[in-house]
Amino acid sequence: MEGALIARDRVGVQDFVLLDSHTSEAAFLNNLRKRYQENLIYTYIGSLLVSVNPYKELDIYTVTQMQLYRGVNFFELPPHLYAIADNAYRVMCNEYNNHFILISGESGAGKTEASKKILQYYAVTCPTTEQLQIVRDRLLLSNPVLEAFGNAKTLRNDNSSRFGKYMDIQFDFKGAPVGGHILSYLIEKSRVVHQNHGERNFHIFYQLLEGADKDLLCWLGLERNPQKYAYLIQGRCAKVFSINDKNDWKIVRKAFSIIDFTEKDIEHLFGIVASVLHLGNIQFEEDSNGHAIIRDGTQIKWISKLLGVHLSILQEALTNRKIEARSEEVLSPLNVDLAFYARDAVAKAIYGRTFTWLVNKINGSLANKVGFWSSKTVIGLLDIYGFEVLDTNSFEQFCINYCNEKLQQLLIEMTLKAEQEEYELEGIEWEPIPYFNNKIICDLVEQKHKGIISILDEECLRPGEATDLSFLEKLEEKVGDHAHFVTRKLADQKTRKSIDWVDFRLLHYAGEVTYSGIAQLLNKAASNSLLFLLFQVLCNSKNGILRDCFLLSELDNRRRPETVATQFKNSLTSLIEILVSKEPSYVRCIKPNENKEPGKFDDSLIRHQVKYLGLMEHLRVRRAGFAYRRKYELFLQRYKSLCPATWPHWHGPAAEGVERLIKHLGYKPEEYKLGRTKIFIRFPKTLFATEDAFEF
Ligand code: ATP
Ligand code: MG
Repeated sequence: MEGALIARDRVGVQDFVLLDSHTSEAAFLNNLRKRYQENLIYTYIGSLLVSVNPYKELDIYTVTQMQLYRGVNFFELPPHLYAIADNAYRVMCNEYNNHFILISGESGAGKTEASKKILQYYAVTCPTTEQLQIVRDRLLLSNPVLEAFGNAKTLRNDNSSRFGKYMDIQFDFKGAPVGGHILSYLIEKSRVVHQNHGERNFHIFYQLLEGADKDLLCWLGLERNPQKYAYLIQGRCAKVFSINDKNDWKIVRKAFSIIDFTEKDIEHLFGIVASVLHLGNIQFEEDSNGHAIIRDGTQIKWISKLLGVHLSILQEALTNRKIEARSEEVLSPLNVDLAFYARDAVAKAIYGRTFTWLVNKINGSLANKVGFWSSKTVIGLLDIYGFEVLDTNSFEQFCINYCNEKLQQLLIEMTLKAEQEEYELEGIEWEPIPYFNNKIICDLVEQKHKGIISILDEECLRPGEATDLSFLEKLEEKVGDHAHFVTRKLADQKTRKSIDWVDFRLLHYAGEVTYSGIAQLLNKAASNSLLFLLFQVLCNSKNGILRDCFLLSELDNRRRPETVATQFKNSLTSLIEILVSKEPSYVRCIKPNENKEPGKFDDSLIRHQVKYLGLMEHLRVRRAGFAYRRKYELFLQRYKSLCPATWPHWHGPAAEGVERLIKHLGYKPEEYKLGRTKIFIRFPKTLFATEDAFEF
């Protein structure tokens, strides 16, 4: 017994619900720290997995480890991603239902690594046939392609995903993976034209310059040196120690051929990537009338060749906008500032839409070709950006944090709902515990007419008129007295009278965030008259990808396009619909320190994450009712050796065997309840004592 206690002292408990002390944050952190120091990066809260990024290679992802977890009951082995993956898979096969695994955490916490490891687990352990081998390869190789175009080095993570990803893996009735489908969310387009110090543009630009052979570069009109490109030099770190662009280029090229890209697709794709670099190098200067003219014609010649667009029309579109005067359409020259703005806006639009094209193309190749009838069930993997607070928070952070509110709500609803349903099903009474329901914040953002997004939409319909100030005034008027909303006024230094609203603050479930510049950003983007001519050029491009991405029908003035905020809201609503119809599993990833350093456990950084990931809340819910529940058969199988009546075999019904067993162990009536198919244990210490007895 003493030995077990000492061991537990050193490595902590592998499930937080087994913690002796009441659910204090300090005890929680202590346990996490102990385990992390022993390289035990995974810990459960019931069936939820908490993972702390080790920032070093651990030998826990070998094929032998995968085999070990295959088909084994969830709690029988130490906590692991493979146990989560295997459990979802096994339940899916047994019960023919759909599952999802939601992986969340902040940038650099290990979400993408976790989702790749789960995919590898299925690739190695699921049955397959020669015919299905190609599906497996495509599923695995879709990752390097999407990462090349959608990931970048940031200050927080050298391989940061700059888009949200949901991937369904489809299985046939034998449990073999037969296809997949990917949904992507809100790629960070602003990175194409601007990077902060110490950050890079998307990996693909550097891979192309470093890895492509001379002939390809020559055909694209590119030089190998990234310093030559305005869109690549702002962060001043084209070379990153941990990244091998040349090697990654080879992997991406190989992936293209496996994923079924034709030579034409590849040619068009790199034509686009190169054109974005050329666009960034276009410089404008002022003519004698104050109008923008292009300083040097070299870049637009390349763009015209690579995108198959008419040179003089492109030139005209980059320096003019179309306006309507007395029901006639005329060209109006741009000034230099607007020309730069339009250039960047079109570069972002081209890249963003090409990324969506890429996802669709991959989906085409992952589509289940084995036949509709053979596809039965799916496991979805959600690798989505975590809650984000930067020095300046604008539209992108607003969307990311709103997304996290929605997912937190889903978790609360699904865990509480599942918990209640289970008690009901098993005929067990339980007392509900109070918890913070963040629906109130979701409503504040998304409610029709009164929500922040609706107000923003209204402002976007007044291009040229709406400003951040008018947006903030409207917010103040409509949601000013909401408990989770604060606007801040700028005070006059002398009179101390407030003069202007400057920003607004949302009290998210995970903390306060101040947002600024949102309306201005969207308003500019909505001024589509500025980009009309450029979009027209792209619609008529000979580049097949661009023609798929830019449709003439979009240029119809009478259409009222959905704003980006509403599009995002709608895509989130459909994501939630996809998720609620499935059985959930959760992986919560934690980043241990800001320096990507192995072994360093930064208490305050981790405490903050434990708070906003809602881990204490989850633990409380888990412990409020019954900390542990186990099917009679499984409980008996695990502990039968502790009682002479049940060891080595119990021949009666499992429920009766369990009754005998716990009587022998001295369980008190208040410590447990017997449901229809399961035993429910109220206090963790009861099970803990049983575990200890079991070890000796
Ligand atoms: P972002 O939100 O920026 O995309 P993320 O949560 O997806 O971040 P990852 O890219 O998965 O973060 O992880 C960041 C880095 O941490 C990885 O490149 C890798 O070096 C390291 N890492 C993460 N998980 C593990 C692990 N299980 N074992 C070893 N190293 C890991
Ligand atoms: Mg990631």
